[in-house]
Parts: sequence; structure tokens; C-alpha cells
Amino acid sequence: MGSFDGIEKLIRSHLVTLGGYAASTSPETLKGKVEVPVENIIKLDANENPYGCSPRVSQALATYPYLNIYPDDGQTELRELLAEYTGIGAECIVASGGSNQLIDLIIRLFVGLGDEVINCVPTFDIYRFSTQINGGTLIEVPRDENFAVNVNAVKAAIKKQSKLIFLANPNTPTGNITPQRDILEILDTGLPVVVDEAYYEFSGETVAPLVSQYDNLMILRTFSKWAGLAGLRVGYGIFSPKIADYLLKVKIPYNVNVAAIVAVRESLKDIDYLLGRVKAIVSEREKLFDGLKKLQWLKPFPSQANFIFCSVLNGKAIKLHQKLQSKGILVRYFDKPLLQNSIRISVGKPEHTDALIRALQELGGEISG
Ligand SMILES: *Cc1c(COP(=O)(O)O)cnc(C)c1O
Repeated sequence: MGSFDGIEKLIRSHLVTLGGYAASTSPETLKGKVEVPVENIIKLDANENPYGCSPRVSQALATYPYLNIYPDDGQTELRELLAEYTGIGAECIVASGGSNQLIDLIIRLFVGLGDEVINCVPTFDIYRFSTQINGGTLIEVPRDENFAVNVNAVKAAIKKQSKLIFLANPNTPTGNITPQRDILEILDTGLPVVVDEAYYEFSGETVAPLVSQYDNLMILRTFSKWAGLAGLRVGYGIFSPKIADYLLKVKIPYNVNVAAIVAVRESLKDIDYLLGRVKAIVSEREKLFDGLKKLQWLKPFPSQANFIFCSVLNGKAIKLHQKLQSKGILVRYFDKPLLQNSIRISVGKPEHTDALIRALQELGGEISG
């Protein structure tokens, strides 16, 4: 026992002090702590798809016979399926166990100890997390009061040690898009640029066609949100063929499991169904936005994704988060220097919007003052 007391001396020092990533709450951990049974919890905290995956996925997985066999490490079929879906050549595509895994892989490829990564904050916290795990130094360039990227400040932050720029588009947790002319200006710096299009199917905005002109452009996508496969962990990226080859070389073998491959195959056979769900979520987003706007003490921001970011103008976001949770409604809350007193709400089904708005109306008085 005693020999473990000094274990920190043996652990790599930058990991001893690392701030972890705060993941979303799993409903089963709230059993007995909230006023509703676990199965009635309304989970609006991780931008998951409230409609689930395509029924074709569940059917195919129930009878899949080869769980004992490793997947194709070269991702041949998967890359071809994704090429067909994206309209980009298979030689440009690399898949991964969630796009989070590609974020880590890209950082490992470009960023060494002490190298700098430019991050337009506030944004997806995994960029910080993976940079720090890999021993990189984070350079934070603040967005403006409406969360637009400050392109001049990004360019001014570039130094000899700068190796990578991250840009979530639409951004999370704020939901806004960066105009293509701004992305082009950042690409023209020549530094490797990651444009994370996790919410592409909701926003309809992409710079994927630019990959053939800019070999410093890397695009990330995921099946977690639009296709309802967050639990299976499958994402992909679009790269210049050269970067794609390096990523395939440095990735962990068999990084996409066979269930995820089956799920991608079946989802892409059921695209009309899935995009119909996306459409329902986008129109529900506008209904949720209108409902939130009517509450004088919240300020919702326009969103191109499947969630809405809100400033809490009167009262405490942490208290709001707790009160909603005890009623069985989960949302994300933030209270950091650049994300003060705010929450992010994923768009659910119409009945989830109704339950949330009702709860917010009831709570209004309780969290203010
Ligand atoms: C949800 C999200 C992802 C998805 O990550 P996966 O690992 O594919 O589930 C990636 N980037 C951003 C900005 C996200 O919000």
C-alpha cells in the first residue's frame, strides 16, 4: 500500500495536473436521486438523437454472426461507403471509434511536447483535453460576444511552435457557424486546420469540397448525432490522401469495431429515414427557441446544430441545472470565465420540449434572486 503514496513521482508530470474532461451524466447513475424513474429521465445534455438509430441497425446487429472475427484494419468497405455518402474519394477518408478518437490521433500526428495548438474558445473541450494529454500547449483565442471567430487574432497568435488550429463548425456549445470566407482566411495561413463538422447534417454547411485544394484542411464528422449511434462510437474524417495515409499508419489496429461497421452500412441504406428525423429535429429546434425566448430570464442564441445555448440572465445556471435534474430533465450547464452562467439544451422530441418549457416556467421564480 505504502509504495503507492509516491506514485505521482512516476506518472508523467503533465498528466498529474491535467484537468479531466467533464462527460455527460449517465441516467443510471441518478437512480433514486431524482423524482422520476430512470427510464423517464429526459436526457438533453449530450446532443444525442432522441429518435435512436435506424431500425435497420438494430435488426442487422441482432443477427450478425462474426463478432469473433477482427474487423478489416484497413477499413476498405467502410471507407468506400463513406466515400459514397460524402462524394469524396475513399483515399481521403479515415474512420475511427468516434470522432473524438481522430482528434487525439491528429494531435499525435502533428503536436509534440511544447508545440502549440490554437483553439477558438469557448468551444468543444476535447480539443483542450487531448492537446494537454499529448503534452501540447494550448493557445486560446477568444471568440467575440456572439461567439464569432476572431480571424485576425487567430492569425496574430501564430508562431513558429504553432502546429494545429481547431474550429468546430457549428461551434459547441454555442451553435453558431463560421462563414466560409473566415475559414478560407485561416486555411491560407498554411497551418493544419481541423474543421469539426459533427453537426453537418443539421447545419447543411460544409467545406469538404475544399480538401482537394487545401492539403492542410482536415474535416471531422460523426455518426453520433444525426444517425443516432453515439453509443457505438463511430466517426470519420476527410483529409488529403497523404494525411489519411499517415493517420491510418499511426492509429490503433482495428479502431472501428464490427458492430459500428454494420451500423454504418445499415444507416447509409436508410438515409431518407434518418434525414427525415434530422428535419424533425431542426424544426423542433425552432419551436424550442421560440419557447425559450418567451422566458424573460433566459437568452437563447440562434443555433445551426441540434442544441440551443442559453445565457441565464436572472438566477444561477447551476441551480437551474440541479432543479431540472431533480425533475428528471438533464441539461448541460457552464460557469467558466468565457461561458458564464449558461446552459446548453439538446433538441428532443416535441413532448420533451413541452416538458422542459413547463418545468422552466415552474422554476422561473425559484432560481432567480
Ligand atoms: C458531439 C461532438 C463530436 C462527436 O464525437 P464522437 O466521438 O464522434 O461521438 C465531435 N465534435 C464535436 C464538436 C461534438 O460536439
